[in-house]
Amino acid sequence: MLSPQQQQYISQASDYIRQHNHICILTGAGISAESGIPTFRDKQTGLWENYRAEDLANIGAFERNPSLVWSWYQWRRHLVKDKKPNPAHQALARWQKQLSGMTLITQNVDDLHEQAGSTVTHLHGHLWKNRCSRCDLPYDLPVDYENSALLHCQHCSGYIRPDIVWFGEILPQQEWRDAQMAVTRCEVFIAIGTSSIVYPAAGLAELAKYNPQRAKIIEINPNPTDNPMVDIQIQAKAGDALPVLVEQLLELE
Ligand code: NAD
Ligand code: ZN
Repeated sequence: MLSPQQQQYISQASDYIRQHNHICILTGAGISAESGIPTFRDKQTGLWENYRAEDLANIGAFERNPSLVWSWYQWRRHLVKDKKPNPAHQALARWQKQLSGMTLITQNVDDLHEQAGSTVTHLHGHLWKNRCSRCDLPYDLPVDYENSALLHCQHCSGYIRPDIVWFGEILPQQEWRDAQMAVTRCEVFIAIGTSSIVYPAAGLAELAKYNPQRAKIIEINPNPTDNPMVDIQIQAKAGDALPVLVEQLLELE
């Protein structure tokens, strides 16, 4: 499973983490890949194979064709609804429960971190929540994920949309402030399963690197990014590397 070199980088990371108290972790779509949830970089299948995800997860696309974008999200919800946390989500939940000082931030819109038992800040919203595209009020009525007909707001009759941050939209202010505050205080920043190119979340590694503690940056990704901020690169799947890393942290407590 893990090569001696991967294990060596994991030990190097755990030695370093052990000596520090404030750890920030940022996860991306890659952490849910082993649960069977496709990343945006995976090719789409079936009905949607001729569309690029970036062209659908997009405020302009919803304004032009709300029905198309809503049906795509209904289809994604259908894909995601039975998915379960994998060993990577479980290892992070264990870390958070058994050791103090770890803040978990995610760009994912699934709820697999919560299902595993973690407390997590969502920078990009929630796949399972909806709101009005016109008046912004939450839409709390049950939604049938097998039906792709557009829904209307009870207050203003605007179209209902998923409560997700699309390309071209700003991040939720409270969550973004919380994330920035944690990253400013951290001594170690770990980016897991994220290509580190979608701003502003990608800027968090930079904020950590130049914060007053000059945090060390660790990356866990089977396809290493060329993020120049990274100090320790663990080139492995999150589901292989994290259980080993967390086991080492707990053993050494
Ligand atoms: P991303 O930019 O975070 O890229 C995915 C990264 O995961 C890639 O670098 C890839 O090498 C890596 N990866 C693949 N398998 C991995 C594994 N087993 N372990 C560790 N890393 C692995 O994500 P994206 O797909 O480009 O999506 C961008 C944004 O779109 C996300 O931040 C999110 O808002 C949204 N999105 C969310 C979900 C979800 O909630 N599960 C899924 C797709 C897209
Ligand atoms: Zn409304």
